[in-house]
Amino acid sequence: NETGSKNFIEQIIEKDIAEGHCETVRTRFPPEPNGYLHIGHAKSILLNYGLAAEYGGTFNMRFDDTNPTKEKEEFVESIKKDVEWLGAKWNGDILFASDYFPQMYEAAVGLIKKGKAYVDDLSAEEIRQYRGTLTEAGKESPYRNRSVEENLKLFEEMKEGRYADGEKVLRAKIDMASPNINMRDPVIYRVAHMTHHRTGDKWCIYPMYDFAHPIEDAVEGITHSICTLEFEDHRPLYDWVVIETGYKTSPEGNPKQIEFAKLYLTNVVTGKRYIKKLVEDGVVDGWDDPRLVSLSALRRRGFTPESIKMFVDLVGVTKSQGSVEYPMLEYCIREDLKLKSKRMMAVLNPIKIVIDNYPENQTEYFDVPNNQENPELGSRKVPFSRELYIDAEDFMEEPPKKYFRLFPGNEVRFMNAYYLTCTGCEKDADGNVTLIHCTYDPATKGGNYPERKVKGTIHWVNAPTAVNAEVRLYENLIDEEKGVYNEEDGSMNINPNSLTVLNKCVVEPELADAKPEDKFQFVRTGYFCVDSKDSSKEHLVFNRIVSLKSSFKL
Ligand code: ATP
Ligand code: MG
Ligand code: MG
Repeated sequence: NETGSKNFIEQIIEKDIAEGHCETVRTRFPPEPNGYLHIGHAKSILLNYGLAAEYGGTFNMRFDDTNPTKEKEEFVESIKKDVEWLGAKWNGDILFASDYFPQMYEAAVGLIKKGKAYVDDLSAEEIRQYRGTLTEAGKESPYRNRSVEENLKLFEEMKEGRYADGEKVLRAKIDMASPNINMRDPVIYRVAHMTHHRTGDKWCIYPMYDFAHPIEDAVEGITHSICTLEFEDHRPLYDWVVIETGYKTSPEGNPKQIEFAKLYLTNVVTGKRYIKKLVEDGVVDGWDDPRLVSLSALRRRGFTPESIKMFVDLVGVTKSQGSVEYPMLEYCIREDLKLKSKRMMAVLNPIKIVIDNYPENQTEYFDVPNNQENPELGSRKVPFSRELYIDAEDFMEEPPKKYFRLFPGNEVRFMNAYYLTCTGCEKDADGNVTLIHCTYDPATKGGNYPERKVKGTIHWVNAPTAVNAEVRLYENLIDEEKGVYNEEDGSMNINPNSLTVLNKCVVEPELADAKPEDKFQFVRTGYFCVDSKDSSKEHLVFNRIVSLKSSFKL
């Protein structure tokens, strides 16, 4: 692990340690409890947690709940669950930025006393206009030069509830001529008569993000405050706040803001606003619909924390914005489940066969390894008798060339069992095949008979002991040909075939006891996970996590 292989954040941290700016590394994950976490947040969580672990430091879990309009307790619970699920262990108790409202208030009063903040009576719209644009300088507010005494009195009155929302704000007094608009006297406190999910009606003034966040970091002793690129222009303000409020003396000190590129997936909806719309329009069934990439949806679909960690590591940490292909995430779950999951037989689209020369009322059991590549997963007894189910796709009455599966006159291997030869089929009045006739060769027991080569191997389920199941197959929610958003009206291009429900599937009896979130490989068809919401012992439901074939190569 030489410096060359370290990402740019590790390099900053190591320099800070070497130069004595910090002794231990302290990071945090600071979500706003206003929605569910998604795969992008997983990157931030694992990055912050991973850096703390790498340098023997600590990782804080902090809710950034300084904006009471959108925050809800429901989200606090789901976020906690997702962070725990990813295996990111936070230091001590969960923290809430709202617990630091007193420190933030004191810091604001301190700025006023230093002549570094003032109460402004301009409206939000006027302030916006006065701040100018990239090409047009800012203009000072007529209230900018109020005395310290007047500002202290007015700010106190704001806190006491003497003013309506928007009537007065507190602004930092920085530089209206700065080329960086963020530095043109940003608003740091506003009046908002709202009930906060934790502090209730105690406060009617609330700090703005750019003022609150650096103080939250400073109060907790965070050394490296990692955020996404859109905050790059806010870094001078971050430093201004922690320096002017006395938490550090120079921009080189800690806490220090570091920006990295957000994680985006090609043709995947991650934005909260858009997911919300999909939920409200009934396109998906809730925030945890397995077609979404919220962490609760990925968990329900069958992704593991390990696969998400592998994915995030593969993507890496950079400052250049890009978009990653979804098949890379699929690659990671296949890699993770390959040796971990049992390989079972499930028939998604069953059709019955009868072995006419096999004794009636006889069942034999084959000892089948659960995973040929991982003997640690043991083996199981798989029943076999005269009547079996195979997949309808594995039989054709009149096959095309190069079809090596079952057709009249052809012999194929029934996985782990025998070689069977098809002798014909029965059909209903409409010409649909209802039953396939076969014979078996007792000499081929175990399905391995090198003396006679067969080209096809198919899977099957013993009919008398078969367990019924529903299987849900997924495609991308987005029409990939068209891209996520319709250029004309900004609506989303939805793939009408994103969900296929197969409700006549049959699986091995061993699967009768499968529990929610259990994961299996179904031979030849993919990796599947027991649905945590809709599956029960009486009605098993499996979600396909991913098929076996990959379009992604590392
Ligand atoms: P969204 O708008 O998608 O909900 P957000 O930035 O509003 O994202 P926050 O609750 O503020 O969500 O995010 C908590 C942390 O997660 C922040 O530090 C933020 O930078 C980070 N984060 C959010 N989205 C991504 C992403 N796509 N990739 C990496 N980190 C992200
Ligand atoms: Mg957010
Ligand atoms: Mg945010």
